[in-house]
Amino acid sequence: MKPSNTPIATLSSLTPVFKLMVLGMGLSLLALGLPRVYAADHGAEHTPAPAASKPAVKKAGTSPPEEAPLVDIKAALREQMTGKKKVTLVISDKPEAKSAAASSHSTTAKPAAAHEPEPVAAKATAVAHAAVSHSSPVVNPRASREYIRAKAAALTGHEAPAGSADAHGSEVHWGYEGENGPQNWGKLKPEFNVCAIGKRQSPINIEESATLQGPAEPLQFNYTASSGTVVNNGHTIQVDLAGDNSLTVRGSTYRLLQFHFHTPSEEQVNYRNSSMVAHLVHKNNEGQLAVVAVLLDPGVANALIGKVWTYMPLDTNDRVRMPLGIIDMNELLPKDQRYFQFIGSLTTPPCTEGVLWMVLKQPTQLSREQIRMFQQLFPNNARPVQPVNGRPVRQAQ
Ligand SMILES: [Zn+2]
Repeated sequence: MKPSNTPIATLSSLTPVFKLMVLGMGLSLLALGLPRVYAADHGAEHTPAPAASKPAVKKAGTSPPEEAPLVDIKAALREQMTGKKKVTLVISDKPEAKSAAASSHSTTAKPAAAHEPEPVAAKATAVAHAAVSHSSPVVNPRASREYIRAKAAALTGHEAPAGSADAHGSEVHWGYEGENGPQNWGKLKPEFNVCAIGKRQSPINIEESATLQGPAEPLQFNYTASSGTVVNNGHTIQVDLAGDNSLTVRGSTYRLLQFHFHTPSEEQVNYRNSSMVAHLVHKNNEGQLAVVAVLLDPGVANALIGKVWTYMPLDTNDRVRMPLGIIDMNELLPKDQRYFQFIGSLTTPPCTEGVLWMVLKQPTQLSREQIRMFQQLFPNNARPVQPVNGRPVRQAQ
């Protein structure tokens, strides 16, 4: 909070000549280094958020070499997340203060410890989000969002997010608007062809009157306290799970790999979307996928979502490990677990078909604040509904 305290203490132990030198360097750091770090912080904190992206755009536009500032942005964000190290930059009394500050960026760019969740990091996250709404609205949000997405894709586009290959695992630059939007997914890559020509695509609108109604087996959720890692993969917030969670249905046991979110809900019931949806992605030993969709509507805050948002990474492809045993998937499930069931696909490229879908009929509630926080990062990450093409949709009574 008070960067001036420490330098004074340090100065008093030095010779007068040294004091002047150190003071001079400190001042030049204040003049040059600090504003730069702050500017970088702001750009990165709010990367995918529309209103707050102005500093990043401005910065990239005004500084000729684009690679270095981008590295700075990532590094500065990590440093801020791991404990406000910008303070130590200011008080550095090394002879090459400026380059030391710069190199401390590069050397701390990828420490594993930077991803360790700490209370400070969580607070920084919350602050960053709270700050978003106060940012200047002058810049065109759509333009800056696209710019930042392009930058994020350029930065991270060739790293396949580990552990997420099943639902959102492709590294090609697909998105939810413009040229790379859902209408064009099938053309982006030969492997995405099925997005365009598939006949059993997801999501769908579920028209209740057209469903097969009758008895169906209850879903058997075997969920226990687990650990996980929250990932911002550029398309959604996803939690990769470690733990013993499974779903038994249709004579097969599927292990829960990950869950992630969309807004608005991708699924419609009688042409109505929910505010959000959580997709719980399971896989059995044969490699078949079963996805449970939990619709999310505004109401009381949800405990599990609160925990996930607390550790939400702000930077694309950042991963934040959650504390051991903190995840209880039961907190996300509604009491009434009747469902709609049909065969569909992944809702993201490569849109692979043959996925067993269960959409729970009763929505779970989350608070408007929780919705808002996600939407600041991902204003819209829902694929539009796809033709049902006569597929049977079963309604478990
Ligand atoms: Zn999904």
